Amino acid sequence: MPPSTTTVIDRARGAFLGLALGDALGATTEFMLPNEIRSEYGVHRKIIGGGWLNLKPGRVTDDTEMSLAMARAIVAAGGWDLVGIADNFVAWMKSRPVDIGSTCRKGIRNYLLNGVLENPVNDWDAGNGAVMRMVPVPLFTLGDEEQMANCLLAQAHLTHNHPFSDAACITTGKMLQAALLGADRFELHRFTQELIAEYPKFHFNDYRGAASGYVVETMQTVFHYLFTTATFEECLIGVVNQGGDADTTGAIAGMIAGAFYGLESLPSRWLRKIDKTVRREVDEIAGDLLRLSPWYREQVSG
Ligand code: MN
Ligand code: MN
Repeated sequence: MPPSTTTVIDRARGAFLGLALGDALGATTEFMLPNEIRSEYGVHRKIIGGGWLNLKPGRVTDDTEMSLAMARAIVAAGGWDLVGIADNFVAWMKSRPVDIGSTCRKGIRNYLLNGVLENPVNDWDAGNGAVMRMVPVPLFTLGDEEQMANCLLAQAHLTHNHPFSDAACITTGKMLQAALLGADRFELHRFTQELIAEYPKFHFNDYRGAASGYVVETMQTVFHYLFTTATFEECLIGVVNQGGDADTTGAIAGMIAGAFYGLESLPSRWLRKIDKTVRREVDEIAGDLLRLSPWYREQVSG
């Protein structure tokens, strides 16, 4: 029996809120080394802000802000709208965000100045910036894997065009959609094995702790902690204490683990801490996206 629409919407909320939690939690330890984190915090497990951006506790960064920019464009259009997404990215960049990656800035400027919606393949584009913001896509395309793949790559190529980034987006998307519909951890693991069969670099069975913004290391960190922990909280704590691009590994782990373990698994002491306006919007827009999906439409017309 398929899960109820309420269950799936709650998992979608878990995914988007999980992303925001991982972003806010990890921002504190971004660019730190594990031993620096250990000597400063023991185990970092509280949303306290700070970090290299000197954030207020609960402040989210580009990972959540770009996800919201994309989500708003999709909800406003009632479906896919690449120009709307690009326009929202421009507006976001002009709003002087607290952080913006160099590849994102370059891509958004290329749209702003030259109208370019698809950047050419570039060896330097193997960062994690296209994965960190992709959560709206698997939500609004649930039930149509082909549309998900097309939209994931289109949004990615606004800024990042590299086979590793593309592959990471697709794998994360498949894991998310499967998790939304109730997949177990073995099914999720299978998607990582498909990825590794095509791109062996992503293997993570001998994970050694590199957690940079290089999308391969980012995904290895996320996969390692996803499959060696038993709760949302444990997974996120593991990831952000690895340092490196901790807000982004936190965001990506948060979206997958949030969908997998569900809304009730998100620690309320973390939810209470994140920026209230962001929390409210993220929570609501996750449901709005899911209700646009072919899966949802079929359930309610069923
Ligand atoms: Mn960030
Ligand atoms: Mn980051």
